[in-house]
Amino acid sequence: MIVFDLLCAAGHRFEGWFGSAADFADQRDRQLLCCPSCGSASVERVPSASRGNLGAPEPKAPAAPPARTPEMEGKDPFAIAQMLYSRMLDELLTKSEDVGKEFPAEARKIFYQEAPARAIRGQATTEEHEELLDEGIPVARLPLPPTRLN
Ligand SMILES: [Zn+2]
Repeated sequence: MIVFDLLCAAGHRFEGWFGSAADFADQRDRQLLCCPSCGSASVERVPSASRGNLGAPEPKAPAAPPARTPEMEGKDPFAIAQMLYSRMLDELLTKSEDVGKEFPAEARKIFYQEAPARAIRGQATTEEHEELLDEGIPVARLPLPPTRLN
């Protein structure tokens, strides 16, 4: 079905439902359409945002806001950011393998496919970190709160 916005000769605007654009034209030509306000059969279609089932894709829903949990209610944005960061750390720490001081060597091995690809974490000096980046190895520094270091 298609919904058309219609306008009668007297300027009344109303909606009509039709099976197709041809169906509308047919009904109009046979003067089957009339304005519900004044009964005029002189009805024209006016451009409108189409509605109804046209088989067109649904408009995309706006992106969902970041997941909030009840514990975040009423908290200021900084506290919420801390919670989200803490949760991200938890995830990272549980899903990555701690290779400690071997991190730079291990990161290289993985990058050059000499070791199985996996998420690792560990320590690297600033220089080691820079060297890895220079080689194009994707590493990220993560400021860990002291309480999170074993
Ligand atoms: Zn009318």
